[in-house]
Amino acid sequence: MKRDLICIICPRGCSLCADIQEKQVTVTGNACPKGREYAVNECTNPVRTVTATVRVVNRYNTMASVKTSVPVAKDKMMDVMSVLRETQIKAPVHIGDVILKDICGSEIVATKTVY
Ligand code: SF4
Repeated sequence: MKRDLICIICPRGCSLCADIQEKQVTVTGNACPKGREYAVNECTNPVRTVTATVRVVNRYNTMASVKTSVPVAKDKMMDVMSVLRETQIKAPVHIGDVILKDICGSEIVATKTVY
């Protein structure tokens, strides 16, 4: 099976072609080794950093932006979002504060300060 990908590691945006044969991934089109690594990961274990907002219960109409501290498996993104949809926090919260621990292998950290 072949997959066409755009490398998102740097602004050059190389067009990659990944040829997947059983467990072996052959990558062409990459201008540097990072592109090959990106394509192999994308074909074997795709991960994403999840960004979202959570409700701040003690402030009127206020949400705080959050993200996963490390990328999580792409097929776990909806699980993370389900947890965040139900999550409510109290201000003050500062950038970098850990909001939740171990959600699909990642912490959830604040990316906005709310006083
Ligand atoms: S393959 Fe290398 S040069 Fe090309 S976009 Fe990816 S990181 Fe940049």
